[in-house]
Amino acid sequence: MALIIQKYGGTSVGTTERIQAIANKIIDCRQQGHDIAVVVSAMSGETNRLIGLSREISRSPVAREYDVLVSTGEQVTIALLSMALQEQGQAARSYTGGQVRILTDDAHSRARIRNIDGYGIKKDLNAGRVAVIAGFQGVDENGNVTTLGRGGSDTTAVALAAALEADECQIFTDVDGVYTTDPRVVPEARRLSRITFEEMLEMASLGSKVLQTRAVEFAGKYNVPLRVLSSFEEGEGTLISYEEAGVEQAKISGIAFNRDEAKLTVTGVPDQPGVAYRILGPIADNNLEVDMIIQNIGQDGMTDLTFTVHRNDYDKALEILQIVAGDVGAREVIGDPRIVKVSIVGVGMRSHAGIASSMFQSLANEGINIQMISTSEIKISIVVDEKYLELAVRTLHEHFQLEQD
Ligand code: ADP
Ligand code: ASP
Ligand code: MG
Repeated sequence: MALIIQKYGGTSVGTTERIQAIANKIIDCRQQGHDIAVVVSAMSGETNRLIGLSREISRSPVAREYDVLVSTGEQVTIALLSMALQEQGQAARSYTGGQVRILTDDAHSRARIRNIDGYGIKKDLNAGRVAVIAGFQGVDENGNVTTLGRGGSDTTAVALAAALEADECQIFTDVDGVYTTDPRVVPEARRLSRITFEEMLEMASLGSKVLQTRAVEFAGKYNVPLRVLSSFEEGEGTLISYEEAGVEQAKISGIAFNRDEAKLTVTGVPDQPGVAYRILGPIADNNLEVDMIIQNIGQDGMTDLTFTVHRNDYDKALEILQIVAGDVGAREVIGDPRIVKVSIVGVGMRSHAGIASSMFQSLANEGINIQMISTSEIKISIVVDEKYLELAVRTLHEHFQLEQD
């Protein structure tokens, strides 16, 4: 008998019929002798709808009230799923994040989980009840409702699995596992039967939204066996685990992309100590997160500095830079919000040379201009014009033969 934490995402609980189907799935799993606690998302589209409502009222709502609003979607699903289970004769109880005491810090909309009190849930499990827990939400130490960032129900599930020392955390979604890239962009993408925590962490943080980055981080840290599966069909899914010694790793495991970035350049910056700080300091002071940064080699005492930010932060960053450029005596500020980042990821890259040049050659053959490059031990990221996104991802997928096992 195993303890399994299952998480069902928005499309998996998108209608009352789907919720009934999930209830049956849970009951089947219980009949195989397993103890189950379930984490659910809001019904598909609901969180976006709630965000839309808040925008109708305020451009910058108070963070506390915003979280009270956007967390309500999950409360609907926990009640409906619990009722569906009870209708089938399966005892169940719903819990909001606050009721389970999912204690977080007070960073509204991007709160981090600090502690979970699994006592009530353990009592349910011992009594043969299924605990149904609202994902995405917690409470801070003053009892305020917090939320964990988009896709945060994944993190609720993993954190709960760690707290209850579950045997496996299963993330049920609308695809049957983690693919070599988003199958919506490359239909030839292949399901991976396994992927390492390290690779999944890179894929998620570089834009593959199949799992929230923090969920993968948490699972790696607490060694929670994590599996991504389809809620619509049977299958093994993808197991995310540590690298196995002696098993040869693929050079490239997957391709991630991020459409949410924008690029800014300050040209003609005096090449002196402290200018990078004077330019990027005010950006950080305004809580804008910077991703890639490139500073050119200085020439005639001048240099250029280019960096990327989230596309939502583009206008704000541009505004700040106009002021900063004047202060540091730079020539001009230019920007482009229509760029995307495409990354190849693989732990096998560590032991293979020439992958970067091979990547650049295949893009050159398609006439795709690379605007920025950044590398780490297990990934290479490039920035290109957004019109090349699909072409770049498909070209790289084919070039590295990712459709083949
Ligand atoms: P849920 O609502 O269940 O949390 P998400 O929409 O958050 O589901 O995540 C599933 C989606 O992630 C898929 O429909 C797919 O389009 C997308 N996706 C992006 N990259 C990948 C990938 N490498 N493998 C599988 N799915 C991916
Ligand atoms: N409902 C939240 C969202 O749409 C959390 C989640 O689904 O994981 O982001
Ligand atoms: Mg998700």
